[in-house]
Amino acid sequence: MTDGHAGREDGRARGGGAGRAAGGDILGRRSGDPHRRFNPLTNEWVLVSSGRTRRPWLGRSDLVPPSRTPAYDPKCYLCPGNARASGTRNPAYQGTFVFENDFAALRPDTPAWTIEDGLLRAASERGTCRVICFSPRHDLHLGSMSPPDVRTVVDVWADQTTELGREFDWVQIFENRGEMMGASNPHPHGQIWAAQSLPREASREDASQRTHFETTGRRLLLDYADQEQAGVRVVDDLDGWLVVVPFWAVWPFETMVIPRRPVSRLAELADGERDALAGGLVRLLGRYDRLFRRPFPYSMGWHQAPFGDRSVEHWQLHAHFYPPLLRATVRKFMVGYELLSETQRDITAESAAELLRSVAVSRAPLSSPAGR
Ligand SMILES: [Zn+2]
Ligand SMILES: [Zn+2]
Repeated sequence: MTDGHAGREDGRARGGGAGRAAGGDILGRRSGDPHRRFNPLTNEWVLVSSGRTRRPWLGRSDLVPPSRTPAYDPKCYLCPGNARASGTRNPAYQGTFVFENDFAALRPDTPAWTIEDGLLRAASERGTCRVICFSPRHDLHLGSMSPPDVRTVVDVWADQTTELGREFDWVQIFENRGEMMGASNPHPHGQIWAAQSLPREASREDASQRTHFETTGRRLLLDYADQEQAGVRVVDDLDGWLVVVPFWAVWPFETMVIPRRPVSRLAELADGERDALAGGLVRLLGRYDRLFRRPFPYSMGWHQAPFGDRSVEHWQLHAHFYPPLLRATVRKFMVGYELLSETQRDITAESAAELLRSVAVSRAPLSSPAGR
């Protein structure tokens, strides 16, 4: 690892609990200085230049798009009973509905081949792509569904991962929400892609977590959650789940959702943990939607331990939320310096967490019917 960090004159933060105090002291005084932060999951640095903007302007209520979305749209290819582009008709599903993507980027029947020709290397990739409709209701989204209904989505995510993990090493659950993130259909849905190879992000996180585990005997993200606990970047810390704006966040209101005990995959979550997760997701998405008083676009996804013949005791389950909005009508683009040098953000992770915490969300309606 290259240590490109400059300006270490007044005490670099050390690991463990003292690290928070030391790092916090310096950041409290110097957070307006352009500085770089290290992402231990991906081994990358991010440039933080918070002096470039003031506090984000919060959207006005007149930006609220009126909700005219119907509960059923006869033209939607994801609504129950409707025909998709392939001609296949969806069943009259009542809860969630999973199907193979009609235009899949990865296919299970791809033949195996490789090219090794000097600097030209390639290999075919087997996989599969599925779509998951979260609800039959065209007008809902994960944040406006009831926690018990979101809980059924969590169960499907877990079951799909287990099923696809029997055949593929990597299972990627994700959701693109909003046209800004390329979701052309407002019907609440996500995707599940599986591939035989570990993709880039999985490889990086696998290597970093493995190194940390081999060095310390502990999981990187559990150590990280301990260090963030009750700190300035925590958005929620409830029922065994931590929601935090990562110290190294790139996107303005990026968050991570991490279980506070060792869990490698969604399928390992106990009943109560799944309920708590469902409530926590509804709560987080409520904060996002209320932050700028408009539906908040994002890409989100779960990172779980890979399958195949490899040890996974170093792997901690977690979700990433990558929302692009900096302000109600201003989105962040990854261009210029970010494409050519390294990623950069304009508001600090601490400011983003403070703004997200300041959004009022009630916890009461989020309990499952059984209560907590
Ligand atoms: Zn629909
Ligand atoms: Zn990750």
